[in-house]
Amino acid sequence: MANKILVFIEQRNGQIKKSSTEAARAAADICSKLGGYIEAVSVGNEITGLETIGGYGVSKVTHLKNHELANYSSSAYSEVLTRFVIENNFNLLFFSNTSMGKDLAPRIAAKIDAGIAMDCVALKVEETEITATRPVYAGKALIDLKINSLKKIFVLRPNIFNPGIPSDSKAEVTVNNIETVNLNVKVTDVKKSDGKFDVAEADIIVSGGRGMKGPEHFHLLEELAQELGAAVGASRAAVDAGWRPHGEQVGQTGKTVSPTLYFALGISGAIQHLAGMRSSKYIVAINKDKDAPIFQVADYGIVGDIFEVLPVLIKEIKKIKS
Ligand SMILES: Cc1cc2nc3c(=O)[nH]c(=O)nc-3n(C[C@H](O)[C@H](O)[C@H](O)COP(=O)(O)OP(=O)(O)OC[C@H]3O[C@@H](n4cnc5c(N)ncnc54)[C@H](O)[C@@H]3O)c2cc1C
Repeated sequence: MANKILVFIEQRNGQIKKSSTEAARAAADICSKLGGYIEAVSVGNEITGLETIGGYGVSKVTHLKNHELANYSSSAYSEVLTRFVIENNFNLLFFSNTSMGKDLAPRIAAKIDAGIAMDCVALKVEETEITATRPVYAGKALIDLKINSLKKIFVLRPNIFNPGIPSDSKAEVTVNNIETVNLNVKVTDVKKSDGKFDVAEADIIVSGGRGMKGPEHFHLLEELAQELGAAVGASRAAVDAGWRPHGEQVGQTGKTVSPTLYFALGISGAIQHLAGMRSSKYIVAINKDKDAPIFQVADYGIVGDIFEVLPVLIKEIKKIKS
């Protein structure tokens, strides 16, 4: 049986998320190696730019539309999506390992009896099978796995799969108006956190820990973040102390991030913190303790007092930029 591949295009406020372009490209690559048919699906109300998914190798997008679907709802999204998957007999599904993807993909897997690989950081095709690589033991090790069930779902960690430069191709967009939506829970309001960027999506993150000594010193970190166009992150110690909002927490019980550049400032590098950021491309650590575990994963390290190093770093970056 030829593969029928479906990639889920996630939207927030009617805009496509970057992680979905990564998933589209990865799914298109798998399709070119395995053979078969590929299309994309989105769920929501008004979404702009769906045709741009064509630039990532997926030439058809079906938009499942209803005004009640503008905000994410676990029950409603999983219901309309499951119906679409079953009616069209898709057997290979791709999602992003975002908050929405982590909630939605397992619900669909349970409903269609699919095996699921969460948080994949690599995909490989060998003959007719896909091998997924994913971190285990809080990122200390990687495992390769294959899914045995007929239907398979792969959930891809954001910022790992390269979406490449999009071509000019436009996808054909079909709108399916959904008549009735069963909302067990209705989202009435979404409040955006104060931060400029979401750590889960940022390409550069400047994170602070207990070594920042108090919330009044985070302006230094914010200044560095502003110079670099970065998001501000935090360790759990900084969040638990009430210095930073939980939305900024990176780690096992916070967000998993994979930016190009990650600054760990006054963060010791506990395993639970590393679990959320060790797949960053470049890690820079500033810590006054030369034996802090963060230096074991850092590409660049400065042993020193943040309050001496940070102002110099900010000054030098400003100099380079001017
Ligand atoms: C189930 C569970 C889940 C957890 N989930 C998370 C999670 O999601 N994210 C997370 O971060 N943690 C998590 N933790 C907590 C984790 O174990 C650590 O306690 C936490 O990461 C420590 O935060 P920290 O590095 O900021 O603080 P500390 O470990 O206290 O480290 C502070 C560091 O700052 C350095 N420092 C101090 N002053 C200066 C200075 N002036 N200049 C330079 N360096 C300085 C110190 O040398 C030290 O290395 C979890 C723990 C458990 C048990």
